[in-house]
Amino acid sequence: MDQPTELSIVEITPSAPVSAAAHGWRAKCLQRLIRMDLPVPRSYAIPVSAVRAIAAGRPLPPAGLEQLISDTRGLVGVRPSAMDPEWGGPGTVLNVGMNAARHARLAQSLGVEAADALYRGFVQAYAIHVARLDPDMFSDPDATLADTLDSFHHETDEDFPQDPARQLVEVLRSMARAWEGPTARLLRQAKGAPADAPLGLVVQEMALALGPGVTGSGSIQFVDSLTGAPRITGRFRGQTQGSARRSDAETIYLTRDPRGPSLEQASPAVFADLVRFGVAARERLKEEMQIEFVVADGHLSIIDAIRVQRSSRAAVRIAVGLARDGIIPPEQALMRVQPRALTDLLHHQVDPRAPRDIVTRGMPASPGAATGRIAFSAAAAQAAAARGEACVLVRRETLPEDIRGMHASVAVLTERGGMSSHAAVIARGLGLPCIVGASGIAIDLRGRVLRAGDRIFREGEEITVDGTSGEVLAGAAAMLEPALDESFNQLLDWADTARSMKVRGNADTAEDARTARMFGAQGIGLVRTEHMFFDDERLPAMREMIFADQPEDRRLALDRLLPMQRADFTALFRIMDGYPVTIRLFDPPLHEFLPHDREGMRELAESLDLPLSDVVRRVEALAEYNPMLGMRGVRVGITVPEIYEMQARAIFEAAVDVGRSGQGVVPEIMIPLVSAMREVELVRHRVEGIAAAVRAETRTDFDYRLGVMVETPRAALRAGDIAEHCAFLSFGTNDLTQMTYGLSRDDAARFMGSYVGQGVYAEDPFHILDDEGVGELVLIGTARARERKPGITVAMCGEHAGNPESIAFCQRAGLDYVSCSPFRVPVARLAAAQEAI
Ligand code: PEP
Ligand code: MG
Repeated sequence: MDQPTELSIVEITPSAPVSAAAHGWRAKCLQRLIRMDLPVPRSYAIPVSAVRAIAAGRPLPPAGLEQLISDTRGLVGVRPSAMDPEWGGPGTVLNVGMNAARHARLAQSLGVEAADALYRGFVQAYAIHVARLDPDMFSDPDATLADTLDSFHHETDEDFPQDPARQLVEVLRSMARAWEGPTARLLRQAKGAPADAPLGLVVQEMALALGPGVTGSGSIQFVDSLTGAPRITGRFRGQTQGSARRSDAETIYLTRDPRGPSLEQASPAVFADLVRFGVAARERLKEEMQIEFVVADGHLSIIDAIRVQRSSRAAVRIAVGLARDGIIPPEQALMRVQPRALTDLLHHQVDPRAPRDIVTRGMPASPGAATGRIAFSAAAAQAAAARGEACVLVRRETLPEDIRGMHASVAVLTERGGMSSHAAVIARGLGLPCIVGASGIAIDLRGRVLRAGDRIFREGEEITVDGTSGEVLAGAAAMLEPALDESFNQLLDWADTARSMKVRGNADTAEDARTARMFGAQGIGLVRTEHMFFDDERLPAMREMIFADQPEDRRLALDRLLPMQRADFTALFRIMDGYPVTIRLFDPPLHEFLPHDREGMRELAESLDLPLSDVVRRVEALAEYNPMLGMRGVRVGITVPEIYEMQARAIFEAAVDVGRSGQGVVPEIMIPLVSAMREVELVRHRVEGIAAAVRAETRTDFDYRLGVMVETPRAALRAGDIAEHCAFLSFGTNDLTQMTYGLSRDDAARFMGSYVGQGVYAEDPFHILDDEGVGELVLIGTARARERKPGITVAMCGEHAGNPESIAFCQRAGLDYVSCSPFRVPVARLAAAQEAI
């Protein structure tokens, strides 16, 4: 025989042993309000242990509950009290204890209307939440009390239970069980709750919000949920308590309102008390709170308080405001803002209050939102930009030659690709909203239409890309402006004081570099130089170089590129003004620079004055079965050394130019895709030769640092040997992830959803660093490099370096800096600070 449950109900008093761990946050919060002497109705906490026992079906001792019901001299409300307010809980049930006798008494004191509404409201809530009857039967706003009691009888063959203790037992049991239900469990797990998160319950004497005089219930808060600016908002509902509402109730607003009477005017003393309590609650609870209250004929009760709901921008402003007012220390303000939330402030966002006409969904590859006309090709995007029209580049996937089209667009949408596909990486770098892997769309290039289910969008039609949520919306959505305000800057200044790891930006253009500086990057950790070769002036020279058979001819073609590269680097050095700039030598396979279709090859044959067959042969000869594992990175540098020589010369000559003008300059040269020490030796030898030549030619000395990108598992394992030949290592975790898993970064999105869904991978490893596998290679590489060369700089510059979880890993691994897309620099600054606190 089961033992009755030891309920151990605690009355919440200033000194009662109430804790968030044992009774949940709501019980603890109520105790704090009581300690502040706020007029909180008598409240009781039911501990999580008891709620668990109740859910498991252990019998409850009615004696304890009878006592509670009689102690409260009337009606009670029951609210959930989880460990964390975000985890939700079963709906509140009000006016437990209502029965015929109490109804008769309330009819005398409050009037029949109010008594009927309260009783009816309770029967409805009980029917739906406790007896689990069909909600449709109990949702008619015009039903009378008698109708509602009849319906209950009709549905259950029983009269409505009259014993208050029994009512309370049933309410507690149903709430405890609802918490254990699969839907509730999934919902709270999605908000980060552990699978076995417990629930406490709070039982509170009702402050009745129906009756004579100015009477009603409401909530008030003192900041705007969207902006975080100080502002009194909330609502007041006269003659209303939950679902119980007197039908003759008139509308009363909370604050002065031209539309009608307000609580502020009708009960200035009550309103003044609310404001006073708000100020006190902010100071004592160290948080912006929304206060729930009841006014009964001019008498104020505070029944609950919860953290104000807030947007990302409001979260920043609120945290900074609390710290500035000395209520919390700056370190705590830093911990209160999710690093990811900062991205919302850097970009336009779809206004959360606006309607959303969702066309399809994909992976949210680059945050922010933008509206533009559909363009299906880079050329169409450039043409639209030339007409001054905002456009969205919509492609199956993007290729390097789409880069100018991306520059011309306000957002990018691709049908294929994952978080580190070309479109995703470039869009993040440019700060363009981007959705990739939107497999629900089909692009019909012939018909120049986009199909999504049975909807059709033509080129030129307007869509909105919400890269924060991954949703594509039809038409133009209402937007919120970016919020790089004073609070944002203050928070990041505090973050810089708290962190030890440095943050640099990945930047390929002067514009990127300026953005990176604006967001506080301490240098550039990765310049992907190949992106510089795709414009109309450079591509022909590049192609000529590829088609040249002799080193001398290659040099001649590259000589045309030299001044352009020098100008690129000069601009970056000047913008970075003494901060280090890490230039990665040429990385992609050469065939990326060649045309893919016959028409392009014909044009190329014409411009190079070669027979078409030569061009076709050359293009075919350069094609690879597995280009990402083929002739790219340092392999190009070793086999076609003239490219690296030209780049090294451009870097050194730019450094001399900038140095001569009196500006500081720290050039760093980085070799990609290394897998063997000898590769580093060979490239280093050539780079040293060029440095010596430039020094002699310019009669100017300069410093530079040579580094290696660790992107292959072998480079990580051999980091000790490699370290001997370089000044720094930078983990390129995009390729390192690709090669560690043997997983194509451009194709994995096709099955990633299914893999993550079935728990094969906990997360997309291109998105969140796999600290068990790829991370172990990072740790091994770092340790081996530092063992051989203790002072060596070790960094990370893959896409992971902008991801808060992965940044925390880098800080723990003791890396010297991370380098990420400019728009992720603020996120990285905050994430590094949080890990250091
Ligand atoms: C990397 O592989 O992590 C990297 C930064 O280089 P890319 O993305 O250009 O291959
Ligand atoms: Mg790489």
